Amino acid sequence: MRQYLVAGNWKMNGARATNEALMQGICAGAGDIPGVEFLVCPSAVHIQAVAGQINHAQVSLGAQNVSEYDSGAYTGETSASMLAELGCRYVLVGHSERRSLFAELNEQVAAKFAAAVEQGLKPVLCVGETLSQREAGETQACVSSQVGAVLELVGKAGFGDAVIAYEPVWAIGTGQTASPEQAQEVHAMIRAQLAELDADLAARTRILYGGSMKAANAEGLLAMPDIDGGLIGGASLVAAEFLAIGHAAANVQNQ
Ligand code: PEP
Repeated sequence: MRQYLVAGNWKMNGARATNEALMQGICAGAGDIPGVEFLVCPSAVHIQAVAGQINHAQVSLGAQNVSEYDSGAYTGETSASMLAELGCRYVLVGHSERRSLFAELNEQVAAKFAAAVEQGLKPVLCVGETLSQREAGETQACVSSQVGAVLELVGKAGFGDAVIAYEPVWAIGTGQTASPEQAQEVHAMIRAQLAELDADLAARTRILYGGSMKAANAEGLLAMPDIDGGLIGGASLVAAEFLAIGHAAANVQNQ
């Protein structure tokens, strides 16, 4: 059985004091939500401090980005080995903001994915179509090429315990959420693509939904058979809201 993963992408938000308060809230509440894994992904400069504030085994640490290179003359970059040394277990790769604002292409995202797995990190591969792609009927082609670029580079052996996050670009930060049925359709398609490579890989890989997920809409999304958690932006900055999404996952799990 796949364990629900409720992941927070803090983006470029937070400061020492607010992060500490947020972590206290999350760690205090996680114990009341058995069976659900939580993940927090602070800004890179805050990773070390947040690592010291995690005092609950259900809460994991991740980064929002990683270099595809391991060391050397790459000013401003952070390698997977550096993140692993700070205590990260996960790293987001290919978030739509990285793709659209920082021109990351499928090949570079795949190289970052491989670099992360190489250092024992679990990548959270973010994929999703824009509104114009959805309207043009290109959702499947877009998502399968994003997933396919990674599978082509790393194969079954290099996929590790990676996670995939389906995040329709039109739903990120907009307050507009994919319906559970719209999300399920794409999640099932991603799982079928994994199954073409290996049935066990498809069965064990967690596929998260991201895009304006919040306490009010989480349960309907998480109840879908191929949705194994959420990647949450705005709502992950408020402990009560983030934990409420965890409670929704636990409710679905116990049904
Ligand atoms: C995200 O940044 O990955 C995200 C899903 O943001 P939001 O929840 O704010 O839409």
